[in-house]
Amino acid sequence: MGMRKRKFLKLKLREASFISRALLSSRHPVLAHLIPMRRCNLACGYCNEYDHNSKPVPLNVIKGRIDKLARLGTSIVTISGGEPMMHPQLDEIIQHIRVRGMIAGLISNGYYFTPERIKRLNKAGLEYLQISIDNVEPDEVSRKSLRVLDKKLRYLSEYADFHININSVIGGGIKNPDDALTVARRAVELGFSTTVGVSHDNDGTLKPLSEKEKSIFQQVKKLGNKDHARLNWFQDSIAEGKAYNWRCRAGARYLYVCEDGLVHWCSQQRGYPGIPLQDYTMEDFDREYSTEKWCAPTCTLQCVHQVGILDNWRDPQHAPGATKPANSFKDTVSAVLRTD
Ligand code: SF4
Ligand code: SF4
Repeated sequence: MGMRKRKFLKLKLREASFISRALLSSRHPVLAHLIPMRRCNLACGYCNEYDHNSKPVPLNVIKGRIDKLARLGTSIVTISGGEPMMHPQLDEIIQHIRVRGMIAGLISNGYYFTPERIKRLNKAGLEYLQISIDNVEPDEVSRKSLRVLDKKLRYLSEYADFHININSVIGGGIKNPDDALTVARRAVELGFSTTVGVSHDNDGTLKPLSEKEKSIFQQVKKLGNKDHARLNWFQDSIAEGKAYNWRCRAGARYLYVCEDGLVHWCSQQRGYPGIPLQDYTMEDFDREYSTEKWCAPTCTLQCVHQVGILDNWRDPQHAPGATKPANSFKDTVSAVLRTD
């Protein structure tokens, strides 16, 4: 068995133990996104999460934030940005997440992967990587393109010990929906898992996908990882242009920690609650856990949905409007543990 396969099985086992812990107790964060650097080398047309000049957050400050996430009982820390590969001490950051016993993930645009860099990430203990690829040929909206990144993907396929997921995108002004299928097929060919995101139009309104987009969406989903398809059933509503009824646990089970060390609901709702992580208490956690988020029905953030599934069956939120009690405990367990 190859190194990556072995590591992947180990990661799955650790995930399973974290998931059972998460089902048993709702009082710790499952996933935190940590931003060590706002700066990015690209400028995607739809993105509001980058700048071109900010400095990396110093290593000791980041380590302090990781320590606090560990004290809160966080299971997974995913480093995001901007482009986190631009942080000069990324390896030490990853190592520190592992030292504190948490799963270490990375979201990157893929531009900086070289064989040497990949080997260093292996050594640091990175466990999974996600790269989103928007199109096949670069255009004025996005240069996260298969044509540009294919060489990097081949390096990753050859050298990486960590799990790699390639996410493609449908809807929201992506010009050529066929591209998602091309990207997903290439990902599978290289031995990666693949997921597909459904995005809104630029004005954020919910519109159903066209028939062609829907058919490609179904095909890409089939190619992809079954776990993700199960965890992303909200996408079927979004694809139909329908609002989805779920409980977003941002600020509690999911934390977004920005470069200034503040906790926000997510990248798209910065400012709420906007409390420094170092001062974050279980009181804050409990308040946000039971706060209904007004943005939930049209939200497309996949990882926050997945975290939401862990608690969908319990603890209704204090709602200005009525929410229907969503799933049963049994639905939840089978969704999360991937058994029907
Ligand atoms: S690569 Fe990522 S962070 Fe950078 S501009 Fe594009 S979407 Fe934003
Ligand atoms: S519903 Fe979506 S957009 Fe709103 S806070 Fe939760 S994750 Fe963020």
